[in-house]
Amino acid sequence: MTDWHAEPAHLCLYPFLLAASKRVEESGVTLENLISSAVFERARLRGKSRITEAIKEGTIRKPVIISDTQAEMELLSYPFARILVSCIRDERLVRRYALSEAKAAHEKLLEESSRRGSSASASANIIYRMSEEFGIRMDFLAGEREQVQVPFVDYLRFTTNLRDKRWKLVNRGLGKGKLKLRKAEFVRIVQEAIYERIKKDLPLDVPEDICKAISRYTEDIKHELEEMRNAAGYGFELDSGAVVKDPSCFPPCISYVLSNLKEGVNVPHGARFAVTAFLLNIGLSKEEIIGIYRNSPDFDEERTRYQVEHIAGDKGGVQYTAPSCDTMRTYGNCVETDEICEKVSHPLNYYKYKLKLKQKQEQKQKTE
Ligand code: SF4
Repeated sequence: MTDWHAEPAHLCLYPFLLAASKRVEESGVTLENLISSAVFERARLRGKSRITEAIKEGTIRKPVIISDTQAEMELLSYPFARILVSCIRDERLVRRYALSEAKAAHEKLLEESSRRGSSASASANIIYRMSEEFGIRMDFLAGEREQVQVPFVDYLRFTTNLRDKRWKLVNRGLGKGKLKLRKAEFVRIVQEAIYERIKKDLPLDVPEDICKAISRYTEDIKHELEEMRNAAGYGFELDSGAVVKDPSCFPPCISYVLSNLKEGVNVPHGARFAVTAFLLNIGLSKEEIIGIYRNSPDFDEERTRYQVEHIAGDKGGVQYTAPSCDTMRTYGNCVETDEICEKVSHPLNYYKYKLKLKQKQEQKQKTE
């Protein structure tokens, strides 16, 4: 049986576990050492890269651990990353970082839990360990290695952010207060539990002098963050001169949803529909739109593709138009309105209006 306490090389891949914090505590490394001793520079740099990878890639790479020293640095890099993210005090970065850690752990867990042959019992063991860790009562179905059952109360605790209809209780075949889940679905629920745990105490209340002492790392991270936020587009290339894809002219309601998607915030179905229809209407390709959804906590490429193709009219032959401002208001998706909103009744008209305005201004600047 895998022993979390005994195997730092394994433990450092899941640094949010209680056993991992205990190990850090028992290592005797003080906060002062962690933030300033030359011995721990490797841990600090890795802590910084945890956050920059979260910013740039939306996940955190899991290294191949080849020595105990590397395992220790990897383990210590996690509390240091938490200190860094706390000193930056940016709510959206906290969410993005927590989601990236959770996604990376989810990938590792999926890999470990799907091993077959001689590793099958270790694979079941890791599922049990995770269920214990997060207090999710779970059992494998009799004679089964791939299906588990979970009491619905435990299921509900971690599925409120999962918007896809397959997670709705009515679609799960509830029987005797328990739900059946494929092992991979259970691991997906564990990802939610991990995300909640990582996000729970962030930002930590880090004293100002500590934040100052580590400012050379936080400044680099802030720079990356600014670059990411200033980057043109939302994961799709702007065609040169193709002003029909100019995000700076998007209406506030659409920009709001896109910024939430970019930050890994879960977006309700109605808002997803509105943004997808809007982007299709202005000429984005389906691939570009699917790419925008990649950061969603519950991203499922197959389902996203199906939904985008449906809205594009590939399934039923009718391409949907983005909802009007009235409909957006009805469903609470009209947000952060500005003065142009008062002149239009449709987000697409907002876009056309603002594009023309921008073109006129640019023209004027050129002639001046
Ligand atoms: S008024 Fe229309 S365009 Fe403006 S934010 Fe609301 S829905 Fe969007």
